[in-house]
Amino acid sequence: MSGEETKNLSLAWPLVELPGVGGERAAQLARLKCLTVGDLLMHRPRRYEDRRDIRPIRDLSSEEARLARGKIMVLGTNHLRGGRRKFEFVLEDDSGSVRCRWWNCNYMDRLFHRGDDVLVYGKLTGGKLAGLDHPETEIIKSDDDPAVHVNRIVPVYPLTEGMPQRWLRRVIFGLLEKYIEEFSEPNYTAAGLPSRREAIRQLHFPDDLDQAKAARRRLALDEFVELQSTIRRRRVTMQTKAKALPCAGDGSLVNPFLQQLEFQLTDAQRTVQMEIEGDLNGKHPMRRLLQGDVGSGKTVVAALSLLRALESGYNGLMMAPTEILAEQHYRNFTKWLEPLGVRVRLHTGARKDTAEPLFEKRTLVIGTHALFQTGFNLERVGLIVIDEQHKFGVTQRDRLVKKGHYPHLLVMTATPIPRTLGLTLYGDLDSSVIDEMPAGRGEVRTHIRTPERWPKILDFLKTELATGQQAFVIFPRVENEDAAGGIKAVNAEAQKLATAFAPHTVAVLHGRLKPEEKEAVMAGFRKNQTQVLLATTVVEVGVDVPNATLMLIENAEQFGLAQLHQLRGRIGRGVHDSHCILLTRGKSTEANERLTVLAETNDGFKVAEADLQLRGPGELVGQDQSGLPAFKFGDLRRDLDLIELARHIALEIEAGR
Ligand code: ADP
Ligand code: MG
Repeated sequence: MSGEETKNLSLAWPLVELPGVGGERAAQLARLKCLTVGDLLMHRPRRYEDRRDIRPIRDLSSEEARLARGKIMVLGTNHLRGGRRKFEFVLEDDSGSVRCRWWNCNYMDRLFHRGDDVLVYGKLTGGKLAGLDHPETEIIKSDDDPAVHVNRIVPVYPLTEGMPQRWLRRVIFGLLEKYIEEFSEPNYTAAGLPSRREAIRQLHFPDDLDQAKAARRRLALDEFVELQSTIRRRRVTMQTKAKALPCAGDGSLVNPFLQQLEFQLTDAQRTVQMEIEGDLNGKHPMRRLLQGDVGSGKTVVAALSLLRALESGYNGLMMAPTEILAEQHYRNFTKWLEPLGVRVRLHTGARKDTAEPLFEKRTLVIGTHALFQTGFNLERVGLIVIDEQHKFGVTQRDRLVKKGHYPHLLVMTATPIPRTLGLTLYGDLDSSVIDEMPAGRGEVRTHIRTPERWPKILDFLKTELATGQQAFVIFPRVENEDAAGGIKAVNAEAQKLATAFAPHTVAVLHGRLKPEEKEAVMAGFRKNQTQVLLATTVVEVGVDVPNATLMLIENAEQFGLAQLHQLRGRIGRGVHDSHCILLTRGKSTEANERLTVLAETNDGFKVAEADLQLRGPGELVGQDQSGLPAFKFGDLRRDLDLIELARHIALEIEAGR
């Protein structure tokens, strides 16, 4: 074979050089992210149309979208009032006829002609003059290859402007024949699933819809295997390169710490602590994810772990996503650890106790993102704890670790992660779960209310405040109230609410305040000098004020489920019962469905699972910063079995190396 011919047959062959594609089509394909033959053969159909199942026009339905085929009898454009246009044609078969209508679409009359043989796909709408509004259509040509366009299940692809469905289908059909053997067949098989080549064939032109499903699953598996192999390799590299720092400790700090602690650890906290201590005593640096619902008591576990590193003669580092949270940790750790002779330092954007280089042993530095900036340098770090990991990206995590010398790493999160996501995002980490709440907590009840109930709600809150409890009122915005949309901003409401809540005092907290101002407001609230904290989501993570038992969330529909659960986690931390009121004007059923989930359960795992199903993984973890890979075939909502299989396969591949 000549060089030119082999190149021609390679999956890397650029589409622009294929006969019959050309510059304009290639540019359109590029917009679909298809540059090569290989890309195009992995272009996933949006749906399938079973053209063996063409219904008589009479059977079109308003319940479900159906496919029919007929001839165009009449067609034309009407000019409506207000400059609007309506194009329509009447399609007829042996059973009857149907109107197909488009509003304000250009060039429709150039696309269709009387006598055209047309497939339409859609649902009937309209009462007396029922018809198909903006249906999907395809003109069938008399010289059509029936193997491609008719009498079979055909793929319907995502398109870009100007690209005809039929053209794309024909091109892919042709390429498939010619290039399928070029796809490499992985050296693993999956029971019940087709080979990769067979899957790619069935993906485009399936024999039946079950085959199409199996094809999707096979290609998803391949995606997951690739990812799990990368995760595996990263872990193995780390383990071969890095020797663990000996951080087993000798009890000289942990024991007195436990004695002075004002509560007993829960069984779950103890179990997790043992898992962590095993790692700190192990051959390889710890890489562990600690999950525990809001309020389950992760901070004290972090403290115990850090003390082990300090006992062993190393320094410790703890990172939090907000200044408010870093300061809270700083206060707790100072109270807990300074009596034991540990130096505790704070390093945030606003305050840097660490300007001078820190070489001493037994220093614990608590900080925010500011730790990434130059000027911070802590030697001999034995353990890094990242609190509320979901607020950081994976790359940030890696960067922080590079700061030290393969220190142990513990990342903590209160966003319970559905297992599919956990294996995908944190597959390189071992995992521990605190699945138990400290005893003696009051209950949290969640109520969904509309704004008409405001006077009653205010009454209720004031009665509770009068008994000495405190409240959060959460707003989606700082400024720019949207009166029409009913969206509230904390600054715009502050004055009104100060009057409404009198004689109880209110204070305002949001991200635009200066760090000293934020700190002062939090201090006032913590000391119960202010009873009501009007805030944005700056209090979302970590804030721990056990006397606050009331929370009112304005425009609850504006927030994600996991986020609402986090917010709600600010209350229910003391012995008193707590109430969370979700105020919503939301009319959409989707929004109400979400809020109902929250009202019905306090279990963070259930909330997260529901959020994953309702909004998808990107929304749940923040697609951009999370390092979540974009899957073409994989679906984190339902592919747990495939992800687990992929993990298994990745292990076997590695063992076979
Ligand atoms: P989170 O897991 O959300 O970070 P925290 O660590 O902030 O939770 O703990 C929530 C509250 O529970 C804190 O006030 C903490 O002191 C308290 N706490 C933690 N562990 C226990 C325990 N075993 N018994 C009683 N209270 C505890
Ligand atoms: Mg916390």
